[in-house]
Amino acid sequence: MSAVTADAIARLLARRGYRLTGPRRHLLEVMEGMGDHFAADDVLSAAPEVGRATVFRTLRLLQELGVVCQVVLDQGALAYRLAPEEHHHHLLCVECGAVQDFSSDALEAVFEDVQARTGYAVEAHRLEVYGRCPDCLARDGVPRDGPAPDGVARVGGSRAG
Ligand SMILES: [Zn+2]
Ligand SMILES: [Zn+2]
Ligand SMILES: [Zn+2]
Repeated sequence: MSAVTADAIARLLARRGYRLTGPRRHLLEVMEGMGDHFAADDVLSAAPEVGRATVFRTLRLLQELGVVCQVVLDQGALAYRLAPEEHHHHLLCVECGAVQDFSSDALEAVFEDVQARTGYAVEAHRLEVYGRCPDCLARDGVPRDGPAPDGVARVGGSRAG
């Protein structure tokens, strides 16, 4: 399911001078087979021969290297996901749990604006978008390309300010 493969990640890390050997490489392949996102416990039970400490150390290392990212599920639980090389955000389907990456220049400009207006040196931001994926909408009988009832794209969340 994930567009990011263990092979691609291993090549990327090799270019940066890291070599994933033995259990780490194995864990990466296990994660590749786990679909859109996974919990640390999923990795533990899928690779019982790898110790718990190694699983958590490897997850942390892969996060630091930017090849595994955290996903905040709609109930607030943390999951993990193989990450593409570039900066991105997540679209999560609250019905089937699918996760898709997206990026947006317009969105990134917002954070530059925040930095300019607040004087903060903005170092990072996290944003997840929740909704229902096209497959779930189609299954529920909602036309894919139809406009929202009021003709305006419906966006979740409140609009403060
Ligand atoms: Zn990600
Ligand atoms: Zn869905
Ligand atoms: Zn961003």
